[in-house]
Amino acid sequence: MSARLIIMGPQGAGKGTQAARLADRLGVPTISTGDMFRSHLAGRSELGQRAQRYMDAGELVPDEITDAMVRERLAQPDAAAGFILDGYPRNAAQAEVLESILAEAGIALNAAIELTADTDEVVQRLLKRAEEQGRADDTEPVIRRRLAVYTEQTAPLASLYADKDLLVQVDGVGEMDEVTERLLAALEPKL
Ligand code: AMP
Repeated sequence: MSARLIIMGPQGAGKGTQAARLADRLGVPTISTGDMFRSHLAGRSELGQRAQRYMDAGELVPDEITDAMVRERLAQPDAAAGFILDGYPRNAAQAEVLESILAEAGIALNAAIELTADTDEVVQRLLKRAEEQGRADDTEPVIRRRLAVYTEQTAPLASLYADKDLLVQVDGVGEMDEVTERLLAALEPKL
């Protein structure tokens, strides 16, 4: 069984946590572009330095930087049998690039998950996370900007994936275990 998935959702919807849990259950790696950028930042690589100002402002890192990083990551052997892309694609141009990367490899997505959550709930969760983890890009204006970018650029991808019959929408509000089970049940017909 191969599982080639993307997971979308506003920050704070529990996307990263659920992506990791699904990856574990399905036996595939999670590929989180946010984590990749953060590790480039921590390692002070050239890519990290190019990405920093966008991340600090809650804006998307330019597509050419992001696409090249994902292309390289998907070519790694551990992604051959499947993956969960967390945080990519984030706009229509990235979605097209992903489709061509996969087509070149003769593969396709099984499903695109949209984890939904109420905006007020999301802002509350993010502010709590900011307090607990002290992430540099978790100040309130940056949180609000990231949500606006999500609404403007990423949320419209749901209809694109619905047209391809790949969209799986799951309510992200609830106990962590319950949401994971909901996700697995909703994905079953696609895997
Ligand atoms: P995340 O952890 O997914 O919230 O990502 C943190 C930050 O990394 C975002 O606010 C963006 O600046 C950057 N980032 C992550 N994924 C992407 C992407 N697919 N395209 C552009 N920028 C991204």
